[in-house]
Amino acid sequence: MSKQKKFILEENEIPTQWYNILADMPNKPLPPLHPGTRQPLGWEDLAHIFPTECCKQELNTTDRFIDIPDEVLEKYKYYRSTPLVRAYALEKALGTPAHIYFKNESTNPLGSHKINSALPQCYYAKQEGTTNVTTETGAGQWGAALSYAASVFGLEAAVYQVKISMQQKPYRSSIMRTFGATVEGSPSMSTRAGKDIITKNPQHMGSLGTAISEAVELATTTPNCKYTLGSVLNHVALHQTIIGLEAEKQMAKAGEYPDTVIACFGGGSNFGGIAFPFMRHNILDGKKTEFIAAEPESCPKLTRGKFEYDFGDEAGYTPLLPMYTLGHDFKPANIHAGGLRYHGAGMIVSQLIKDGLMHGVDIPQLETFEAGVLFARTEGIIPAPESSHAIAATIREALKCKETGEEKVILFNLSGHGLIDMTAYDQYINGDLQNYQVTDEDIAKNKIGV
Ligand SMILES: *Cc1c(COP(=O)(O)O)cnc(C)c1O
Repeated sequence: MSKQKKFILEENEIPTQWYNILADMPNKPLPPLHPGTRQPLGWEDLAHIFPTECCKQELNTTDRFIDIPDEVLEKYKYYRSTPLVRAYALEKALGTPAHIYFKNESTNPLGSHKINSALPQCYYAKQEGTTNVTTETGAGQWGAALSYAASVFGLEAAVYQVKISMQQKPYRSSIMRTFGATVEGSPSMSTRAGKDIITKNPQHMGSLGTAISEAVELATTTPNCKYTLGSVLNHVALHQTIIGLEAEKQMAKAGEYPDTVIACFGGGSNFGGIAFPFMRHNILDGKKTEFIAAEPESCPKLTRGKFEYDFGDEAGYTPLLPMYTLGHDFKPANIHAGGLRYHGAGMIVSQLIKDGLMHGVDIPQLETFEAGVLFARTEGIIPAPESSHAIAATIREALKCKETGEEKVILFNLSGHGLIDMTAYDQYINGDLQNYQVTDEDIAKNKIGV
């Protein structure tokens, strides 16, 4: 009998609630602070920027499960559940006794996990009478997901895309425009923040930090316009827990439970999405699963950043957030994993690292492409350069099992496909890509906090 490869849920098995790890954390994250007064912020202080329901979710430390609105569930069912897949061919190529599973979040039409949070954010914005939404996007996956979700719920979307990735991935802008969004390269001359950044550094190719500053400025200076964020914040990770809650049921169908859970790490949303539902069993039931967040060697906030209050954006418009950070004006190298070029980590994940519930690994760019190409040749899916960080970390763990003979069960999240990143694959195959190490001096010269 052939071995079962894919595990899928029936429509009525799709979870109807998200999991809120804030309710179960042994130590809650420190509160976000007002940069001027240094006083903790309440949800009311954030409601001029974000949809109100998202602000409430952001600071909700009491409700373990939060209902997914029916209208969002209905849209989730266009593409969920996503498959849980046993990577037999990858296991064989590695000669590992480990059982490798991946949750395939690349199967929706937008091609990444980002849509899981774009839908609820636009739904909540629409519910409270908002007409416009704005956001930043790095590699373009978030902008694409938001543009689609905005069109689903009848909102106008304006997206600031990091300039370098606009050049590297022009088709992502085309996708956003096809869904009806306006797209602007950041830093741009259309905001005060953008003008200031360009004046100081005319060659600035943009970062998530610059694009966030511009989008926040647009939201706060335009009536009926709310800002949305594709990562970092607690409510974004909350929406992504649909990934791990499904995976939990699917792993049960496979008759296994993960010893190791791995995801790539930009701001923490796909990591939190797959990890938190399993981590709750470490916190509450004494399970011993290991959680690994894979970040680029060129942007190593988890492994080499400082745990401090810092701004979420380059211009310093956001509240001060307690997080692992490389400094809000850190300029990461122009690696192809655009979604991982962010200077900080989410508040929840930062606290979890402090408390030893998870850890980070940093991976050189060439190792990620080597892993991505092996995955493509074995499993037939070309991964996003971001996701290849998770694959590379998985391969490291699987090779350790080969040495020790351990039959560990490893689960990783395939956060997206790489079909719009083929320029990057071409460059890798032609030998034109390189690694970017960051020196301690590079890190030390950046600004943390006010
Ligand atoms: C945005 C993105 C990431 C990184 O963001 P997280 O919030 O850390 O998940 C990873 N993979 C893909 C495919 C992305 O689009």
